[in-house]
Amino acid sequence: MDVKKKILLLTTGGTIASMPGGEGLEPHRSGVMERELNQLRTYYDISVLDAMCLDSSNIRPEEWQQIARLIFENREGYDGIVVSHGTDTMAYTASAVTFMLPGIDLPVVFTGSQLPLADVLSDGPDNLRTAFAMAAAGHPGVFLAFDRKVMLGCRAVKVRASGFSAFESVNARYAARVSNLGLVVDKSVLPVPQGEPRLAENISKGVFLNKLTPGMDPSIFDMLLAMGYRGIVIEAFGLGGINVLGKSLTSIRRCVDAGITVVVTTQCLYDSSDLRVYQVGNRLLEMGVIQGLDMTSEAAMTKLMWAIGQGMEPEQIRALFAQSLAGEIAL
Ligand code: ASP
Repeated sequence: MDVKKKILLLTTGGTIASMPGGEGLEPHRSGVMERELNQLRTYYDISVLDAMCLDSSNIRPEEWQQIARLIFENREGYDGIVVSHGTDTMAYTASAVTFMLPGIDLPVVFTGSQLPLADVLSDGPDNLRTAFAMAAAGHPGVFLAFDRKVMLGCRAVKVRASGFSAFESVNARYAARVSNLGLVVDKSVLPVPQGEPRLAENISKGVFLNKLTPGMDPSIFDMLLAMGYRGIVIEAFGLGGINVLGKSLTSIRRCVDAGITVVVTTQCLYDSSDLRVYQVGNRLLEMGVIQGLDMTSEAAMTKLMWAIGQGMEPEQIRALFAQSLAGEIAL
């Protein structure tokens, strides 16, 4: 008989572990998952570590660090780690943890559910089973499993507030899918190993994500400069257009000249930004902004927060954004 794979379940809260309370659904510790875990124990040797018990709206960079630290410290002795997490900010956490754990040498799979496990119709059992199968499959990297699909953590976006197919792998193929053949892994999507595993948990909170709107007052960029922000991600229009008729360019230039790293992505969910196509984009490139290309906003934000937190200077950050660390960008 095959030896069961050893999987650590790290719980952080979210709907998957929630029960109705006086003010709506509230997360509980892993006890509410016991029935499901007992079923999974037929296939896997499971240990559980309750890291925190939060609705993911309350998860901050401090919790990303705690999760990354727990994964790093506990990874020896396990074949894989599953992290149960609320869906609302799971894409941010999975992306941030990807950058905090370069060279991760085992599978780390985030999952959650739209309907609590406590409900007989919950999507949690399916999502947990996919996550455990990926965690046992032996491919190192940080992944997110949902609705029978597995994607790179740094490519995941929550696209539905309530539908069961809540996450998509944006601008990248799925790393695995569940079919009649079981878990079918697409090896071409798996992250390329990056040397020895490291815990690089330092991250800066001084990055602001701005969604551009027509006619937006550009003094917001001067305010960010005055507030001490170190990085700005601008979700621009279409291929990366910004209104150049008003004061926007002057304000953005002041930020870049003051050493703030400005990354421009697109507010379109799919495809890559390309600032070289239009005059409005080329003006930005000339002043030194970085193109986010096909990165998700979650990945661009967390990569910039991480790069600044690692003490990189603007030129080093520019070089970092021209590399794919874990499959977050297609180059
Ligand atoms: N509000 C919940 C959370 O993110 C939603 C969920 O888990 O689906 O914690």
